Order: sequence, then C-alpha cells, then structure tokens
Amino acid sequence: MSDSTVEKREFKSELKQILSIITHSLYSHKEIFLRELLSNASDAIDKIRFNSLENEGLLGGDRDWKIKLAVDEAAATLTVSDNGVGMDREAIIEHLGTIARSGTREFLESLGKTDAPKRPELIGQFGVGFYSAFMVADKVSVVSRGVGETAAVRWTSDGLGEFTVEPAERAGRGTDVILHLKAEEAEFLQSWRLRAVVKQFSDFIEHPIVMDVEKGEGETKTTEEETLNSRKALWLRSKADVTPEEHRAFYQQISGDFEAPAKVIHYAAEGALEFKALLYIPKQKSYEMQFGEAKVGPRLYINRVQIMDHCEQLLPPYLRFVKGVVDCPDLPLNVSRELLQHNPLLEKIQKSLVKNVFQALEDLKTSDYDAYVTLFGELGPILKEGLGRDWANKEAIAKLLLFESLQTEKGKFTTLAQYLEAMPEGQTDIYFMIGEDRPALEHAPALEAFRKKGWDVLLLTDPIDPFVFPMLMEFQGKALKPADRHAPELPAEDQKKGEEAAAAFQPLLTLLSEKLPELREVRLSKRLTDSAACLVAADDGLDAHTERILAKLRKSDEGPSPRILELNPEHPAVQALKAIHAADPADPRLENHLRLLHAEAVLAEGSRLADPSDLIRRINGLLAKDV
Ligand code: ADP
Repeated sequence: MSDSTVEKREFKSELKQILSIITHSLYSHKEIFLRELLSNASDAIDKIRFNSLENEGLLGGDRDWKIKLAVDEAAATLTVSDNGVGMDREAIIEHLGTIARSGTREFLESLGKTDAPKRPELIGQFGVGFYSAFMVADKVSVVSRGVGETAAVRWTSDGLGEFTVEPAERAGRGTDVILHLKAEEAEFLQSWRLRAVVKQFSDFIEHPIVMDVEKGEGETKTTEEETLNSRKALWLRSKADVTPEEHRAFYQQISGDFEAPAKVIHYAAEGALEFKALLYIPKQKSYEMQFGEAKVGPRLYINRVQIMDHCEQLLPPYLRFVKGVVDCPDLPLNVSRELLQHNPLLEKIQKSLVKNVFQALEDLKTSDYDAYVTLFGELGPILKEGLGRDWANKEAIAKLLLFESLQTEKGKFTTLAQYLEAMPEGQTDIYFMIGEDRPALEHAPALEAFRKKGWDVLLLTDPIDPFVFPMLMEFQGKALKPADRHAPELPAEDQKKGEEAAAAFQPLLTLLSEKLPELREVRLSKRLTDSAACLVAADDGLDAHTERILAKLRKSDEGPSPRILELNPEHPAVQALKAIHAADPADPRLENHLRLLHAEAVLAEGSRLADPSDLIRRINGLLAKDV
C-alpha cells in the first residue's frame, strides 16, 4: 500500500478492550487525560534532547523546548503540541494501535480488582496513558513528524475499534494531539480549567507548558503566551525550602499515586562526589508492583537535564518501591546508556541512596510506629527480597523487619533486636518457623517445647519467607535456626531421663523404623509435651512448608524428602505401643498404631495424607473393636 492513501487498521484486541473500558467506565478524575498527554509530550522532548547530545544536527536548530495547549472553541477541540521526537508512519502505527504492550493484560486484570473510583490511577501506572484521551474526546487525531522526516503523518480514531493513517503536513518536528471533545466535556475548552489541571498534575514538568491567553479589553486586547507550570526542580532547592504540599504534589506527579508519600528523603551529597537526591517512600505498593513489572530506580538528571526515566543502577530491585530523582552534575552529559551500566560513580551514589533509604525507614519505625507497621505490611515482602540478594546489607535489612512470634499477640510485632533483648538466660540462638499462617504454626507440635521453656519463636508466613529468610543465617552474631529442626536442650535431669527412656525404647524404635521404610528414622522426641508424635526434617532436608511450595512449583510427583518421625515417650499412646512390644514384638497392632501416629503427625504439620482412606480404615478398625 502506498504512503499517500488513507489506510484503515484495527486495534489489537486487548487494546480494544482497554479502550472500551476507558471510554465507558472511567468517570472520576477524567482530567488526568491531560497529565498523561503532557507527560508523553515531555518524554518526547526528553528523548530528542537526549539523542541530540551525541548528534546536535538532529535538532535542525529547534531547541526551544515547548509544550503548547491550544483551544478552538468553535470546533470544540483541545490540542496538545510538542516539539519532541515525533513519530513517523511506522512508529505511529506501532505505538498507537497495533502493539499490545506487556502491561495491558495486567492492566485489565487489575481493573477488575480495583474499586471504580480508583481505576483512573491505573492508567498512568500501566503505560496506556495516551488512550485516556478517549475519556473526554469522541475523536482524536495525532499529527506527527519524526526527526529527519520531511512529511508528517495523521492518525485518527474514534476509539471504537479502528484507526486511520494518512499523509499530512506539519511545519516542523513534533506532535500535535487534537482532541475533539465530547459535548459534556466542554469545560476543557476553558483556560481557567486547563490552568488548574496543569497546576495540579503537571506543575513540575521541566519544559514550559504554554497557552495563548487574551489580555485586556476591546482596542487594547492582545494575545500573550502564558506559561502554566512553575517548572520547579524541587531537588535543587534546599531541604528547608520545600513544603510538604510541594513534596506531595511532586511525588504524585512522578509516581501516579494519589496518596502522600510516607517518607521524604532529600539531601545533597558534597565532597568527592556531588549529587542531589530527592526520594519518596510510598505508603503502599503501586498496582504495577502488585500486578505488573515494576520499573526500578529513580529518574536520573544531569544538571536538570533528564537522562533516564528509571536508572536501574541507582537502586537495587528490592527497593523498587522508592520513587524520585537523582541529579548528578559530575556525570558527562553525553553519557550513553552502555556507559551507565558499570559506572563507579553510579555505584557510589547507589550505596549512599540505599543507606539513606534504610535510615528513613528506621526513622519512621521510631517516630511513627503505626505508620511503619502499615507500610511494612505493604512493602515488607518486597524489602525482604534483599535478604537473598544483597549480602552486604543483610543485617541492615534484617533490622527493619517486623515479625509476629509465639509470644506476640496476633497482629502485633517484634523485631530481631527486641527478640534478642527478651531472650531468656540459656537461650543462645534465634528460632523461627515458616508456615502458611499463624494458626497452622501455633498448632505445630514442634513448638511445644519452646512454649514450655518460654523461648520465643518468630512466625514467618509471607510467601517469600521460605526463599529468603533462611539466607539471613545470623543476626548480630546469633545463629538463626528453624524451630522444627532444633529443639531446645532439655534441663540436665530431663536429659538423663531422656537417655534412660531412649535405652528402654531402643528395640521398639529399631523395629518401627523397619516397619515404615518411607521414613528416614523413628526416634524419641525432646520437643513434645502434648502431642504423641511429630515429623521433623532431617538436617539436610527441607521443612514441610517449603516442601509443599516446591511441590506446587514443579508440579511433579517427585516425592518429598524422607522425614523423621519423633515419638513422645511420656505420651500414653506411645507408652501403650511400648507395652504391646514388650508383650509380643510380633504383634500386628504395632505397625497399625505406628501408621496412625504417623498420619496424626502429617495432619498436625498441615500436610496432606498420601492416602486418607488408609487412615479411615485404621480408625474404623479401632472403633469396631470397642463395640
Ligand atoms: P507510555 O507513554 O506509557 O508508553 P502511551 O499509551 O501514553 O504509553 O504512549 C504510547 C507510546 O506512543 C509512547 O511510548 C510513545 O512512544 C508514543 N507517543 C505518545 N505520545 C507521543 C508524543 N507526544 N510524541 C512522540 N511519541 C509519543
């Protein structure tokens, strides 16, 4: 098909769905369409400016960066123009219609999970911003001319299912987005309304957003170009000069969050390495963090010139919830993306940022504990990833963690430092237990001995815990041990009793080990007070919870690793077993009762019985004997 024809195309099907949702079900905060278009215009300018750092010729002399709003009341159109990179025919088709980018499916999914009033927030967070134009317009035209192109291209759509592309004219490089406003959205033709929306959502955009306004009356009436945004680079001002309202507005603009940040980190590093940092810790995880792929790292500026939207080298992935700006005049302006990959300057800045983020979290924990508890509930699982990835900062991360424990009430927390402080005499290690939820853990037989001793056990129930927590290994020189594998030592007299019991039980245990060959061993327990039996992992095996998760992940029927069955010698059921054995080591009831105890232990740790009918048969057998 030749370039001179009007070509009709269909949107990708996922995009059709998104458009239909945007046009039909997003009613609140419609004004954010302007934020999205202005942010696209600003990005387009950043792109050409960045590219021109290496090749000034690209600009063709036009470096008067500007975004312009123009209203035509008679035609009921609002136009957003920029002199950014622009798009050629291919780019416009790719970016505005045919490609369903990675975020779209997640966007659709999360729409379903979000309350209607909060849905518009999702638009900005999922990179489908352009289409928000259809919230207020029933037809949108985009006229764009790419860098180095002589002709322009016009894209037009009513947002229903199709769009057209055709050749067009445009004076220079850049893009005009022309909105044919719906009748009921005429307010966006009013300059006061546009001014207010720009102030609220786009005030900190670095490039001027201008609009022609009429001044004066009658004869003296003139048209003047007014700049609507203050363009303040907050991060360059001194800390004391920025108000909380300004921080909130800036944070909301760069994050798409509607809440205020939980914590502001604003400082200027001086000395060998100079840079300014303005970072925000949110109160909650963004939708993108919940459902999509979160981008990592703050924006990187060099003397107010934006180099990158997300500089991954500046923050580790487990701090991806931190948003903000870093401005480092020491980097060369013509720095390339490749050069940023292993840049020692950036590594130093990262170190400093990470330290400051930890400090800010620590401060919040001390100054506003309740706010910290809420924040930790949202962001804690992400932060914990660092235990497995950032060995140098493991301890600093560990200090920030909150835990429920055997001795905390449900919904109340302890920290590792508090745990150490409360440790009774004789306890040398820190104990934890990983499981599905608190009730399941509380009933774990393995914890009986800890209760009896008054030793606390951290209860870990985040899905990520089995993968990262064991990597902590120790905290302040104290080893971290899984409670289901390390029973507390018994007092000396109990130990003696235990050894005597062990000797008396030995022939029985040997026999039982033979009867249940799927177990690694049957032995006496030092950890049980109430239960008759429990299962424990061998030192080189996995605990039951991790075993279950892995089984789900690999979806194979590869059996679990062999476990150890521990019996409580004090328990009447176990003593009965011993009595039967003493009377007749060949009594068939021995195996029957042992299998019952084994089933009990499997259920108690929250695992599933391989063959529930076997248990039922054995119980019924016992019941029948009682008649
Ligand atoms: P996002 O901006 O998050 O990528 P959008 O749907 O808002 O998602 O825009 C899609 C793409 O269209 C952009 O990534 C960009 O490549 C292109 N685009 C949008 N507006 C402009 C513009 N004013 N100038 C140049 N390219 C643009």
